[in-house]
Amino acid sequence: MDGCLPLAEDAADLAGGEFRAEVDAFLGRELTEDLRAAGRATTGLKSSPEACRAWGDKLRARGWYAPSWPTAFGGAGWTTAQRLYFENACAARDAPLLQSSGVRTIGPLIIAEGTRQQQARYLPAILSGAHEWCQGFSEPQAGSDLSALTLRAERDGDDFILTGSKLWTSFAQYATHMFLLARCDPNTRGGEGLVFLLVEMNRPGIEVRPIRFLDGECETNEVFFNGVRTPAADRIGAIGEGWKAAKTLMAIARGNNTTTGVLRRALRAARHAAAGAGDIDARLSERFAHLDLRIDLFEALERRAGSSGLGIDDAPATSALKLLATELHQAITETGLEAAPWSDFAPAKYLATRAATIYSGTSEVHRNILARAIGCP
Ligand SMILES: Cc1cc2nc3c(=O)[nH]c(=O)nc-3n(C[C@H](O)[C@H](O)[C@H](O)COP(=O)(O)OP(=O)(O)OC[C@H]3O[C@@H](n4cnc5c(N)ncnc54)[C@H](O)[C@@H]3O)c2cc1C
Repeated sequence: MDGCLPLAEDAADLAGGEFRAEVDAFLGRELTEDLRAAGRATTGLKSSPEACRAWGDKLRARGWYAPSWPTAFGGAGWTTAQRLYFENACAARDAPLLQSSGVRTIGPLIIAEGTRQQQARYLPAILSGAHEWCQGFSEPQAGSDLSALTLRAERDGDDFILTGSKLWTSFAQYATHMFLLARCDPNTRGGEGLVFLLVEMNRPGIEVRPIRFLDGECETNEVFFNGVRTPAADRIGAIGEGWKAAKTLMAIARGNNTTTGVLRRALRAARHAAAGAGDIDARLSERFAHLDLRIDLFEALERRAGSSGLGIDDAPATSALKLLATELHQAITETGLEAAPWSDFAPAKYLATRAATIYSGTSEVHRNILARAIGCP
């Protein structure tokens, strides 16, 4: 397989030769040239909806759509080493980038803290692709200070009535469901008096307005709630204690926000763009080699965090992973832009990764978390 580096080989050894051969054979067989072209053309967080659907169907049929979920819930039940091998192999072969919020964030939360009914209703629908999820946390006046949120959830019989808005909601235009935080007790502030709700996007009163970014893509949206009725039973955790579930979800999201596979894809794309723009001189070669090394180091950290069970309840560890990965992602696309400023791909990729140090918590916020963890006042 092309593009595998020493640490990826280590991961492969840990993953086992049989597993490795199975993955290689599957990718060799199923990744058509069309799918690889869609993977190569991806500048944002995920590939085109058509490519995601087609590649997702192949992974679903093989039982590999949710690599980290336990097999009891329909996942592949892979170890961290197996997942890393698979992601590196996908990156080396330009597989489409899926980044399903259902698989990566709300699914693991429902597995950890959902009721049996929620697990039975939502997990199979995430796996089949029938449900696509988006995350409704940020609001116009609540980003880094998320607990300042004001979306109102007013109790009415068995339902809540939602009034207010969310901002920067990624892929809301394609989502069938949103998990959101709302204020159910208007007399509270901060993390008190919140409820974590699972809401269908086709409920009357929800309006989605896409936001166009500098790279021309529409990945995020404004979402308005005009008296939206939604069942109170469709929540994670107790009424008034939504902040607890939100913190767990944010740790999950940060822990798998930008993975080794995403970084390897970006570096491969930057090298490809540079080669298309002319000779790669010694200085550029050295920069690419340095970025390779930084990805290897990040992979070692990701593997260690995964195998020691960090990721869900270790806030400093997930902050460190998020910070390192997103800043490295930007360094890769900056090098790509410098090497190929006039290509179609490198400038769009560069612009798309500017947001990586903002979503899932800004770099400044994560540095604050890390500083507090080592005892800074
Ligand atoms: C592409 C993209 C996709 C997103 N997707 C989603 C999504 O799907 N769902 C969702 O809910 N949200 C989403 N977000 C929102 C994202 O989580 C917020 O933008 C982020 O938390 C920052 O909040 P803010 O934009 O309100 O900036 P602010 O919080 O106003 O921050 C402005 C600046 O001040 C700095 N700052 C703030 N507080 C501190 C502090 N205490 N110490 C030091 N510096 C500080 C920040 O680092 C930043 O530089 C997305 C954002 C982007 C850009």
